[in-house]
Amino acid sequence: MTLIKENKLVKILEKTLSNESISKEDCKYLLSFEETSLEASLIRSVANEVMRKKSDNSAIILGQIGIDVKACSGGCKFCTFGEGHTEFIPKCLDDNELSLKIHEFCDAGDLYGLFLMTMHDYDLTHLLHSIELTKSIAPKSTQIWVNIGDSDIDTLKEIKKAGVSGIYHVCRLGEGVNTLLNPKDRVKTMQNAVDAGLNLYTCCEPIGPEHTIDELVDNIFIGIELGCFQHAAMRRVAVANTPLAVYGQISELRLAQIVAVIALATFTMPSMTYCGVHEPNKIGYISGANIITAESGVNPRDNKEETSKSRGLDMNACRTMLLESGFKYIRRGDESKIPLNLDYINKINK
Ligand code: SF4
Repeated sequence: MTLIKENKLVKILEKTLSNESISKEDCKYLLSFEETSLEASLIRSVANEVMRKKSDNSAIILGQIGIDVKACSGGCKFCTFGEGHTEFIPKCLDDNELSLKIHEFCDAGDLYGLFLMTMHDYDLTHLLHSIELTKSIAPKSTQIWVNIGDSDIDTLKEIKKAGVSGIYHVCRLGEGVNTLLNPKDRVKTMQNAVDAGLNLYTCCEPIGPEHTIDELVDNIFIGIELGCFQHAAMRRVAVANTPLAVYGQISELRLAQIVAVIALATFTMPSMTYCGVHEPNKIGYISGANIITAESGVNPRDNKEETSKSRGLDMNACRTMLLESGFKYIRRGDESKIPLNLDYINKINK
């Protein structure tokens, strides 16, 4: 009896073990296996192997702070901020609130990057002020990133000049259908960010059970073709009161298979050392993911005003999940390494 009958699968995976990238067609084939199959397990294991080798078995922690909340004109049907269905009361973090959150994320000195998140429409003056405040508190080894709405190149150059390293931006699955935004504007912003000299962190999201393999792979390759710096996969969470909740959600096991395929499709890119899974889970971290995001304040996948007490993970929960997933180092934003072990976790928790 042969372990794996699919010679084609073995050939694709051996190619990745020889440090070769895989094609769009290969990705579609890898996603065609059931998530519970032996083949899918093998795909996840190979992705785990190549990513741990490339990163010297390191993982990174990102933090995200929602600096404002209001009924968002993006109107995304899967997001708790979308206008027409949001139940959040508009709020903008003041300096004191923002400072406290920055300290929470940064004081231990092991945060790779801190995201400041706004709604689709944002006040540039407030954002630049928040960046300035973040810079004055965060250590130099923590990069500052933004997660903002569509923006032109001049605005993005100004944001970069203010000290921001990168931007999280995506053209979502179902953009323009399940959102009020134009897919072309989303991709243009991603291109503007690259042209402005910002690193692009992107993601295939928000994945639901109804998305086809072709849709997933086309979406994954938007970021790859733009030379992204980090990639990821995020499943859509069926949050009550969001219009797409009726479709349900994919399993963490299927999400891990998608993460594995993204890792295998990107790990040969010189810029790609890290790959994310949202929401964080251990199956993803043994399938090629090595980015974990701690969240504070509001979160588009949560109805609570303080997500770190609800769906979001705080910094300690992130460190523990990485340790339990077998990572040996946490990397700071300057790529320096901190050995990750129980002593380290206990010391930080004191
Ligand atoms: S996902 Fe972003 S753009 Fe869409 S409604 Fe939520 S905050 Fe707005």
